Amino acid sequence: MLVPIGRRRETGIVVELTETPPPDVTTRAIADVLDDEAILTPDLFALCRWAADYYMTSLADVLASALPGGLRASSTRVVRLVATNASGLHGLEEAVVAHLAVAGPTTVTALARVLGDRRVAGAVRTLVARGVVAVDEQLRAPVAKARFERVLELARSLDADALAELERRAPRQQALYGRIVRMPERAIEVRALDRSERTAAAALVRRGALVSIRRERYRDALGPERAAVAPPVLTPAQRSAVDAIAEHASFQVLLLHGVTGSGKTEVYLQAAARTHASGRSVLFLVPEIALTHQLVTRVQQRFGNGVAILHSGLGPGERWDQWRRAARGEARIVVGARSAVFAPIADLGLVVVDEEHDAAYKQDEGLRYHARDLAIVRAKLAGAPAILGSATPSVESYQQALDGKYRLLSLPDRVEGRPLPAVEILDLRTLTPAPLMGADGAAPPGRRARATSAARALAGSGLGRNEDEAPSMLLSAPLIAAIGETLARREQTLLFLNRRGFARALQCVGCGEPAGCPSCSVSLTFHERRAVLLCHHCGFARPARSPCAHCGRDALRATLEGTERIEAEVATRFPDARVGRLDRDTTSNKGAHRRILEAWESGALDILIGTQMVAKGHDVHGVTLVGVLLADVALNMPDFRAAERAFQLLTQVAGRAGRGTRPGRVLVQTYRPAHHSLVAASSHDYAGFAPQELASRRELAYPPFARLVVLRFEGVEAEQTERAAMELAAFGRELERTVTVRGPAPAPLERLRNRYRWQLMLASSSVRDLHQGVRRLLGHWRGLRAARAVRLVVDVDPVSML
Ligand code: ADP
Ligand code: ZN
Repeated sequence: MLVPIGRRRETGIVVELTETPPPDVTTRAIADVLDDEAILTPDLFALCRWAADYYMTSLADVLASALPGGLRASSTRVVRLVATNASGLHGLEEAVVAHLAVAGPTTVTALARVLGDRRVAGAVRTLVARGVVAVDEQLRAPVAKARFERVLELARSLDADALAELERRAPRQQALYGRIVRMPERAIEVRALDRSERTAAAALVRRGALVSIRRERYRDALGPERAAVAPPVLTPAQRSAVDAIAEHASFQVLLLHGVTGSGKTEVYLQAAARTHASGRSVLFLVPEIALTHQLVTRVQQRFGNGVAILHSGLGPGERWDQWRRAARGEARIVVGARSAVFAPIADLGLVVVDEEHDAAYKQDEGLRYHARDLAIVRAKLAGAPAILGSATPSVESYQQALDGKYRLLSLPDRVEGRPLPAVEILDLRTLTPAPLMGADGAAPPGRRARATSAARALAGSGLGRNEDEAPSMLLSAPLIAAIGETLARREQTLLFLNRRGFARALQCVGCGEPAGCPSCSVSLTFHERRAVLLCHHCGFARPARSPCAHCGRDALRATLEGTERIEAEVATRFPDARVGRLDRDTTSNKGAHRRILEAWESGALDILIGTQMVAKGHDVHGVTLVGVLLADVALNMPDFRAAERAFQLLTQVAGRAGRGTRPGRVLVQTYRPAHHSLVAASSHDYAGFAPQELASRRELAYPPFARLVVLRFEGVEAEQTERAAMELAAFGRELERTVTVRGPAPAPLERLRNRYRWQLMLASSSVRDLHQGVRRLLGHWRGLRAARAVRLVVDVDPVSML
C-alpha cells in the first residue's frame, strides 16, 4: 500500500495488524491500497523473517530482495512554471525558469541533472516563495502491473428461432456467434475482432447472447508450448532414488549424488511428477537459467502449461505474471534461479536444488543469502522433502549426510553404460615446452600478445615470466601431440584455462607448491601496492621475493599466461585448424559470443580456447579432447575452498569430453600432480576426495566444522579503511572466548570500484555464539567515528573470499 512519509509517498507492505497503535508513534492514514490479493504467503513471510534474522539485516531489506522488482509505487516532486514574467532572478533561478519554459514540468532531480547544479533544490524553494513556480507531488505507478483484456463470453445460447432470424437479418452476427460457440472456452478477445465484427459483437451483447468481461491476460514468457515427451523407463538406481524420495511426505533433506550423465534430472522430474499428481507444487532451483536451457525445456516437455519460470531475464511485467501464476496455484512447477527461492508457491510439496554445490546460489550483493540454504529452510517451513543433487556435492552437504541428517542417495553409473572420459595428468615440472618455429624458422609474428594484468605487475617486480619469445609453458609436447591427433580425426578440442577473476598467487616451478600461509592453509596473494605476499585471512605477510618455503629453491613464479598468447601459439602450430577463443575480452561483444559458440556447436571450429565460460552447460558431441591448461589456477585461489572448487571444476570440464558416440580424453596439466583434488578428479572418485578434504577442514576449523562471518570494510581512503578494520578487530579480540577472529587483512581484491577493501573473519562452531558475537561487534561499530566514512558489509556463510 501507499503510505505518506514526510512529504513523499512510498510503498509499504503490511506485515502485521494491531488494534492499538504502538506508543510514541504518530500514526497517519494510508494513502492507497495497491494490491487486492496478499502478495506474500504465510510460509514465505516466515522465510523472510528467518532470513532477516540469520543474515543479520532488516525485514525490509529481505522483502525488497524477495519481491519481484517494479512493484513499488512512489512519489516524485514535479516543478511547473506558474508566472512567466518574473523579474530580478539570479543566475540559477533564471536557468530553472528558462528550462521549464521550454521543457514543461520537470522533476527536481531531472532539473539538477540537466543544469548540472546540486543547488537547484534551493533555487526552486526561492522560486516557490516568490510565486514563480509551483511544486506538485506526482505518483509514479509501479512498473509491474497486471495486464487486462476485454473478452466477449457466451452468456446464453440462442434458440432455433433466434438463430433463424439472425441468419436472415444479420449474417455477420450469426457468423460471429457461430465462431464463438465453436471455440473451446466459448469466449473471444475483443482485440482479435475487426471493425465490422465489433459492431456485430455489440449487437449480440444487446441481445444478451454475449457479455463483455475484463479478464487478466498473462504475458507469454515461456515461448511456445513444448510437445509432450514420454518419460524413459528408469534404471534400477534411478527407480530406487525416486521411491526413496516418495517415502517422505514431510520435511527431509535427500542428497542425490550421481556422476555426470547418471540421470539425476530424470529423478527430479519423476519425483516432481508424483508431487504434481498429488496436487501439490514443486520448487525447482537451478544455478543459472541461461546455462540450463536444456533442463528448462525438459521440464516444459513434461509439465506443459503447468510451469512457471522465474529469472532475471524477464521484464518486470512478465515476472509479475509468472509470480502470480505460481501464487494462485495455476503453475504447480516453479523453475528458477537463486531468487526463485522467494517465489510464492501454493501447497509446496517438494523442493529440488540442482547442482547444489554451485557458487551461483550465493548472492553477493544486497541481501547476501544462499539460495540452497534458504531452500532447505523453506522446505522445512512447508513440511516438504528437499532434494539436493550434484555430481560433486559440497562437502558441507556431504558431511550432513555422513552425520545422518541428510539421506544420501547415489547414482554411481552413467545411464546406458556410457563410459566416463579417461583423464590423464601431465606434470609441468618435468615437461619442457617443444621448440616453436615459424614457417621461416624465426619466431612467429604476433607473439607479443598481452599477458594478464597480474602477470604484468609481477613481471615488473621480477617475479613473472617475461619471456614473450619463448614457447608457452602451457602447451606441453604431449598436449600438442594429442591436439594433432584429434585434428587428424576431424574431431574437436577444448582448451580450458581458468582465470576466474583472480590469479595473483605465486607457485614454485621446481616443486609445484604455491606460496601459502603457514597457519591458514590458503595461498598468499601478491599485493602490488605493498610489494608483499599476504594472507588475506589472517594478515600474515612476507616479502614478494623469497625462496620457496617447501623446497628452498628460488623458483616462485606466476605461472598463468594469457589466453591470447595461447591462441597465437596454437594458430602457429596448427595453421590449418579453425581456432576460436572465448573469454571476457572476446565476449564484451554479445554478438561475438554467440557467433563463437554457434561455430563451436556446429563443428565449424576445430579448437576452442576458453575460460570458465565454457566449463558448464554446452553439450557438443564432436568434442573428444579436453585440455586443462593449468589446473593450478583453481588450486591456488586464495580461498579455503580452493581444493574443493578445483575438484568440482575439473569434474565438470572433463564432462565436456566424449558426450557423443566417440570416447573422450582429458589431459590435465599441473605443477602439482599429486594434489588430492587432481588425483581424485582424474579417477572420478568423489568418495576418495571428500574424506581428505573434510579432514583438512576439520583440522583448520573451516566449514562445515565451523560457521563463518566475514566483515568487509570498504572505504574511499586506504588509511582510513585500514584503521577502521583494525579498530573493530581490536574490539573483536574481546570476544575470543567464544569466537575466533582472523585478521584484519586486505581483501585479495584490495581495491574494487574505487574502494579499498579490508576484511575480518569470525568463526565459531556454534552459530549462536557467532551471531551473538557479530551482533555485539555491529553494535560497537555504530558507535565508532569510522563508521561514517567506511562501509561495513556483513557476509554470513561467505562463499567468495575475494
Ligand atoms: P544428469 O542430470 O545426471 O547429468 P540426465 O538426467 O541429464 O543426467 O541424463 C543424461 C542423459 O541420459 C540424458 O540425455 C537423459 O535423457 C538420458 N537418460 C536419463 N535417464 C534415462 C533412462 N532411464 N533411460 C534412458 N535415458 C536416460
Ligand atoms: Zn593466514
